[in-house]
Amino acid sequence: MAELWKGAPVAAALTERVAVQVESLKSKGISPTLAIVRVGERPEDLSYERGAIKRCEKVGIAVRQVLLTASSSQEDLLEVIEEINRDESIHGCLLFRPLPKHMDEAAVCRALSPAKDVDGITDGSLAGVFTGSGQGFPPCTAQACLELLDYYGYDLKGKRSVVVGRSLVIGKPAAMLLLGRNATVTICHTRTADLPSVCRQAEVLIAAAGKAGVIGAEHVSPGQVVIDVGINVDEQGNLVGDAAFGCVEPLAAAITPVPGGVGAVTTSVLAAHVAEAAAQSCG
Ligand code: NAP
Repeated sequence: MAELWKGAPVAAALTERVAVQVESLKSKGISPTLAIVRVGERPEDLSYERGAIKRCEKVGIAVRQVLLTASSSQEDLLEVIEEINRDESIHGCLLFRPLPKHMDEAAVCRALSPAKDVDGITDGSLAGVFTGSGQGFPPCTAQACLELLDYYGYDLKGKRSVVVGRSLVIGKPAAMLLLGRNATVTICHTRTADLPSVCRQAEVLIAAAGKAGVIGAEHVSPGQVVIDVGINVDEQGNLVGDAAFGCVEPLAAAITPVPGGVGAVTTSVLAAHVAEAAAQSCG
């Protein structure tokens, strides 16, 4: 039976650290502030937004919401982003994606000042993740995987790590963060030959495919740690991860639950990035 690596204690520890940093910034006259920009009313954005606001309130970070309708033009959105770039009282910006189809998402992301890019959406932040230069911030979910491994005392050095998924939001940055900790990393995707045998080699398996049950018993070997990033809805309408929990949990050494695993840590990472961006803004 696997140890259940829940996200709540990881989030609580991180929140406590961030609250102390925010308090110290406020004593110097800096009030860390996050702008949340949402275009439209996608239910998953609304739910993440509620979580982010709650987490920010808990640590003393101010939130300004900017809401645009789904039919807004790209120019409207760019104007909002430019205003956020100019506003010195805003330290970080969370922009929900995907944007409506009529917008050029890459162009909008490029418009955000890298210094305020607290969720790793600009090329500058991603370059920082790949070069290890410390420029910008990694995407929050990718970093949340590392926070979980750190909290539960897992030393990545030299560990065979497999990431299933190669998106710029999770798979690629998570792989680079693992590499930065001296893990030996393999990235898998839909064209990977014999996914089960590649996954079985892993000591750490990060599942970020976005497909319920894509990781089954045949992908897991005894002693493996499974970080399940996937958020899917099964046929019964339940929230489930990428791992078929009932088959994987008896074999793995540790597994993160869905819900209550990686997803529970992400907003704390976001808050940590906002506090850090505020600290950097004063040099
Ligand atoms: P995405 O852009 O759709 O990327 C999915 C990746 O998984 C792609 O690289 C794809 O390969 C690969 N993949 C899909 N099916 C596969 C399969 N059967 N075998 C091997 N590889 C497969 O998704 P994403 O934005 O990275 O998100 C991934 C999951 O994380 C989603 O469930 C999402 O809801 C969840 N998520 C969780 C959080 C959180 O806080 N926990 C936050 C954000 C997202 P190809 O490149 O070959 O297509």
